[in-house]
Amino acid sequence: KELQEQETEDDDDDEPLAIHPRGAEPTGSHRGGQEPPGPDTNSISMPSENNSLRSAHNLEANEGRANGRQTEPTFYIRSRTSTLNTTALKDDVYESLDYDVCDNVLFKEDQKFSDNARFNIRKDILRWIIFIQIGVVTALIACVIDIPIEELSAVKYTFLKNSVDNNVAANINPGGNLVIPYIYWMAMSIVPVVLGAALVTYVEPITAGSGMPQVKSYLNGVKIPRIVRIKTLAVKAVGVVTAVVGGLVGGKEGPMAHAGAVVAAGISQGKSTTFVKDFRIFRAFRDDHEKRDFVLGGAAAGVAAAFGSPIGGMLFSLEEAASFWNQNLIWRTLVASIISSFTLNIVLSAYHGLNNFTFTGLFNLGKFEQPLTFEYFELPIFMLFGVTGGLLGAMWNSYNTHINRFRSRFIKFKFARILEAALVAVIGVTLACVMIFFINDCRPLGNDPTDYPVQLFCEDNEYNAVAALWFQTPEATVRSLFHDPPGSHKILTLTVFTLVYYFLACVTFGLNVSLGIFIPTGLVGAAWGRLVAMIIFYIFPEATFLSPGKYALIGAAANLGGVLRMTISLSVILMETTGVETSFFFPLIVTLISAKWVGDYFTEGIYDIQIKMSCVPLLPWELLPKYKGLKASELMSTPVVCIKKCDSAKYIYKVLRRCKHNGFPVVEDVKGNNRANGRVCGIVLRSQLIVILLNSFYEEKKNFWEKEVSIQTFRNVYPRYPSIDSVRLPNEKENYTVNLDIFMNPSPVRVSQCDSASKIFKKFRALGLRHMIVIDRENRVVGIITRKDFLYK
Ligand code: ATP
Repeated sequence: KELQEQETEDDDDDEPLAIHPRGAEPTGSHRGGQEPPGPDTNSISMPSENNSLRSAHNLEANEGRANGRQTEPTFYIRSRTSTLNTTALKDDVYESLDYDVCDNVLFKEDQKFSDNARFNIRKDILRWIIFIQIGVVTALIACVIDIPIEELSAVKYTFLKNSVDNNVAANINPGGNLVIPYIYWMAMSIVPVVLGAALVTYVEPITAGSGMPQVKSYLNGVKIPRIVRIKTLAVKAVGVVTAVVGGLVGGKEGPMAHAGAVVAAGISQGKSTTFVKDFRIFRAFRDDHEKRDFVLGGAAAGVAAAFGSPIGGMLFSLEEAASFWNQNLIWRTLVASIISSFTLNIVLSAYHGLNNFTFTGLFNLGKFEQPLTFEYFELPIFMLFGVTGGLLGAMWNSYNTHINRFRSRFIKFKFARILEAALVAVIGVTLACVMIFFINDCRPLGNDPTDYPVQLFCEDNEYNAVAALWFQTPEATVRSLFHDPPGSHKILTLTVFTLVYYFLACVTFGLNVSLGIFIPTGLVGAAWGRLVAMIIFYIFPEATFLSPGKYALIGAAANLGGVLRMTISLSVILMETTGVETSFFFPLIVTLISAKWVGDYFTEGIYDIQIKMSCVPLLPWELLPKYKGLKASELMSTPVVCIKKCDSAKYIYKVLRRCKHNGFPVVEDVKGNNRANGRVCGIVLRSQLIVILLNSFYEEKKNFWEKEVSIQTFRNVYPRYPSIDSVRLPNEKENYTVNLDIFMNPSPVRVSQCDSASKIFKKFRALGLRHMIVIDRENRVVGIITRKDFLYK
């Protein structure tokens, strides 16, 4: 009888009734018996083009009408889905990851088979091996990024130094001619920058920026398209090299975290979808939950390689990126970080001639020769530095956000984005040349802080201190500011340098290039920190405690805290990279906390701002204040598109075609054929349903597949599940039944309508859920809640 009813229903479901804004209609090709009967397994068909705004509710309503029964007029009930902020969902490109393990029958069978101590030990050992591999490969990639940057920068600055010496030096050409070096400098900036920007813009736009916001979103449970692909890694690596060599104001630490994440995602899955190669290893780790842990380890290994700071790398991942962690994960992450830093040290030391093993990281911020000490009366000064850093950081974040809004509004064409990057490179070179030309800051040669001291307009045996700040990579400049002896710069030089760099960093972050923000932010802080120390010392010459290097370090910490809003990891990274005594942890943390508190008062951290601007549905640590006091019933979407435990292939196919939801409660004991009020017995994902249809796992054909099917069938297509467009349902299969008993997750998280929003949010976040079903006292579905309901309602 039911099969007949469904036949009738088909005539009726063309009515254009819109409820859910996310539906898509199938092409007509397979309908109405036009399609030639297909083979037993479903073949690939062309994607549907004919999208409409109809939903599965129409389907049920029409089904009811066609059957001549009085069903609930679900299509007249305006679904709460439509109350979501549609601007935030405009592209709806972000789906969630499934961090909640689906413990269906297939999974349990797999567990039973492998549920013995030997198997578990083997799985654990494999996990450790993967983490070690992640550390090694991430370090190798760091070397592949670092060595070209070193070599190409050396060529660039040696050439520029020679050019300046030949054209400007006072003894050769009195009065100087900076035009020719300026043109060379511009050319040497524009070419790599344009190359990098073109790569990012045309080949893999997701590689723009530091990559930290993307990694953070991924770890929070948001699927960011193309974030962990090999192509992304390749573009990111070349992009960072070109941008840094081009002299843009940026660094490689964020990109290194991203690179580590890609490495982790690749290694842990034992297959590459880009190269269509399955190595048939590590198959037990093919799910979002396992992958997430590896990605966290990869991000930590990347940061550890960048800074030469294993503990800092681990803390950075925990503090800034991770949304979920446990004790074992912390251990493994730390091991990946240590291995990464160690491997990098060996490879870079070998590259530099094995003289000493001091290349623990890509950044060498130099070790303070004498232990940094402080007096207790300096603590208020450190706090004031923190407050200043918080204010400057908040201002920087706000300016940068405005600039990026302007960009996304007005710079739409791809070539315009490349031109913009070139323009910023030109502005940088021009400002540097103007500074060099107008500021007369000559210092005696001997303790010159740069490898490329240029004489410019200075006397013989002198070098130009302004050029020294510009003729090197930004991290080398930070090193200079930390370690140059007192009196290496003029107050005017540092004042102008701070302003110029602050401005350049602000316009650079957001360009279509791969660059991190850590080094420019630290550099600006080091510059103003040193400057403030110099000014105070100028006013109070007896204040001998004002060592410029120490205050440059405090300034860097303050500025970093003000922009990034990290505390523990930053202080540990700064300590590990500069080798300061543990006793100096206290001043650093006092500064960072002051900066964070003050900064937080005005704006969010820059990564969070970027995440918001991209409309990524990132779950915060706490429920948003506007939802406090609400109940589950006020957050949920209703009516819910459900599927019966034994449902027809035709219905499932139509649901998948017509609505884009990724999870469907599985129900039984439905009243009046209205699935939306059935009793919950599980939940099934869209990806699972597609695999079921593609493999023809129909009840009627059970004999053919019953022995074959296993959890591996689903893992083999993870993570790029086919879309519903690749499924074709020939006429003869429409009336087949799909029994979801062994496929569905039988224990979805259910909450009651009266549960408070705060309570369900805690559950949702802690368990890394994707869907939460709201039920009544009889265990009947009344609504559904996803992460977007906690953010955009
Ligand atoms: P995700 O996109 O997070 O992977 P999803 O696609 O299943 O999961 P969302 O895009 O978050 O769901 O959902 C958008 C809106 O649709 C939310 O308000 C949610 O409550 C609602 N929704 C989700 N699934 C269903 C469903 N099966 N029936 C009705 N409404 C749903």
